[in-house]
Amino acid sequence: MLNIVLFGPPGAGKGTQSEKLIAKYQLIHLSTGDIFRANIKGATELGMLAKSFMDKGQLVPDEVTIRMLESEVNKYPDAKGFIFDGFPRTIAQAQALDIFLSKRGQSLSAVLSLEVKEDELRQRLAERAKSSGRPDDANPEVIQKRIDVYKNETLPLKDHFTAQGKYKGINGIGEINEIFNSLCAKIDELK
Ligand code: ADP
Repeated sequence: MLNIVLFGPPGAGKGTQSEKLIAKYQLIHLSTGDIFRANIKGATELGMLAKSFMDKGQLVPDEVTIRMLESEVNKYPDAKGFIFDGFPRTIAQAQALDIFLSKRGQSLSAVLSLEVKEDELRQRLAERAKSSGRPDDANPEVIQKRIDVYKNETLPLKDHFTAQGKYKGINGIGEINEIFNSLCAKIDELK
C-alpha cells in the first residue's frame, strides 16, 4: 500500500506530477483543490463555502476540509493507495490524516516535497492564469496571499514530517520528466 503526500507551495507542479504518478503506480489521486473546484462548479453548499475562502487565497477551515477528505478516502475501500495533493496543509489536517489512515490499518508511506523558490512560483502562477480560468491565479495579491499562507501554515509541516522520517525533498525546477523521474526514484526506494 502506497500512501503518498505530494507536498509543496502553490505552483510547485503537484497537479502535473500527480497525473503522471497515478498512471504509473495505479493510485487514487485526491486533490483537495480539484474537489473544491468541482463543488464550486456544481454549486453545492460546500462549493459556495469553499469559494469564499479560495477567492481570497485563504485556507478552507480545517473542520470542513478534513470531513470532506475523509469522505473521499472512504469512497475507495479497495484502493491500492492514494496520492494526497494539497492535503494536509495544516498540522491539524496532518494529525487527522494519520488517524483516518490508521482506522484503515494503514499509514503514510512518504511525503514528497517539490521545492521551488518563490520568484519562480509567482511567475508560474501568473503564466497559468492565462489558461487556468482560476480566479485565484488571476490576481497577484491573491497569489501572494497563497504563498504567505503556505509559509505560515503549511511549511511547519516540514518539521512535523521530518521528525517522522517521512519528508523527502525534491528539486521542483527543471524538465517535467526529470522531476517525475526523481519522484519515482524516491517512491521505488520505499518498496
Ligand atoms: P494551489 O496549491 O496551486 O494553491 P490548490 O488547487 O491545491 O492550488 O488549492 C486551491 C485553494 O483551495 C487553496 O488556496 C485553498 O483555498 C483551498 N484548499 C485546497 N486544499 C486545501 C486544504 N487542504 N485545506 C484548506 N484549504 C485548501
